[in-house]
Amino acid sequence: MTESDIFPQLTIPETLAAGPGPGNTDARVLASFASAGLADHMQADVLRGMIECKLMLRRVWGTRNVHTFGVAGTGWSGLDSLFSAILPGDTVVAFVNGTFSGIDALTVRMKAAGRADLAAAPLDPRPANVTVITVPHGQSVTADVIETALADRKPTWAVMAHWETGSGRINDLRAFSDACERHGVMGLVDAVSSLGIADFDIDDYPGVAGWASCPQKGVLCLPLTYAPVSFTDRYIAHLRANGCHSYVHHPVLEARHWGILDGKDAAAGTYHRTHSGYAVAAFHEALRINLQHGKAQKARDYAWHEAALTKAVKALGCNVTSNMTSLVVLNLPPALAGREKELVQMCRARGFGIWTTLSEPVQIRIGILNQLSEAAITDIVERFAAAMNAMGAGADTAAAREALRGHYLTRMAAE
Ligand SMILES: *Cc1c(COP(=O)(O)O)cnc(C)c1O
Repeated sequence: MTESDIFPQLTIPETLAAGPGPGNTDARVLASFASAGLADHMQADVLRGMIECKLMLRRVWGTRNVHTFGVAGTGWSGLDSLFSAILPGDTVVAFVNGTFSGIDALTVRMKAAGRADLAAAPLDPRPANVTVITVPHGQSVTADVIETALADRKPTWAVMAHWETGSGRINDLRAFSDACERHGVMGLVDAVSSLGIADFDIDDYPGVAGWASCPQKGVLCLPLTYAPVSFTDRYIAHLRANGCHSYVHHPVLEARHWGILDGKDAAAGTYHRTHSGYAVAAFHEALRINLQHGKAQKARDYAWHEAALTKAVKALGCNVTSNMTSLVVLNLPPALAGREKELVQMCRARGFGIWTTLSEPVQIRIGILNQLSEAAITDIVERFAAAMNAMGAGADTAAAREALRGHYLTRMAAE
């Protein structure tokens, strides 16, 4: 093969995405994406679709924030927009308890850094105006940690992940919002993993000034479509007064294409950038699926199936350290300890997409995004048990099956 060869057409096989995300995209979303007509980003139905998305997103997120819309891209695109109001020299406290909140803190350090901070460490600046509070992997960010740091620093901004997907931990959103209110801090929340899974309404957390999520986890859309964001009027007023260093991710300018002008809903959007009718159609269908399922019911379904998976992997001898309901983070039994990456590689080679953690310590992560049925959870458990046993674990597959059967029978008994 040389540079001048034309490669054969790329085929990417179907896999079972059983990790932290992306989840297996709903067939309805794929169909919407593929059946959208060829239309430009100012065509009437594309603009109408964006407005409908905006209105549905407000319902999914439980908010009256006018500045609620999608940022083209993935989670980091939405987060870049969320953190755009942080300017060099701003004081920030960032809570870190895993890979993703760690990257949030890096983003924040880059934005709050002065020129000298950047020159000293261009890829990893450490401005003194940003305080990073590190909570050990496998633990949640709790009320006392939040209160102590905010009372001590009284920063302009505080940043936390709602659900930290790196360690599978749920952080205390109530305590975060309350402490932000108490200390006059504007909270910014990475809700990439919780939106579409957890049953919460933005407007119940007035200490939080801005939120960002992603398309391809709980929201069930395709990566590189739209990352949901939402900003309070307070955030927008601060941004209007101080400006920011972004055109494309500017929360006020970008909102224009979604029909948000001068802080109000307009009849149609105006040009900000080229949007994709395919992406709009996919996002629209994903939001419809979320609303049809219902937020409370969806949250209950995740909790129910996650509990089944947890019981089954415990029966296989694994130790679960997470408390998210879309993701199980576990330690392998002693016989396989240290072989996590090997196990994940083997599973992935078999079209079963589970993950290790991306930062230390090395653990296994198994997710259930869009896998809300007994059959789907059973398939995940069977594949995982088979892989463990192919590596000589001697795990008790029968016990795992029994755990699943027992779990699912209780629901039937209750109904
Ligand atoms: C997945 C994830 C991200 C990054 O999202 P991308 O879609 O990969 O850009 C950020 N934060 C959290 C909590 C995540 O789970």
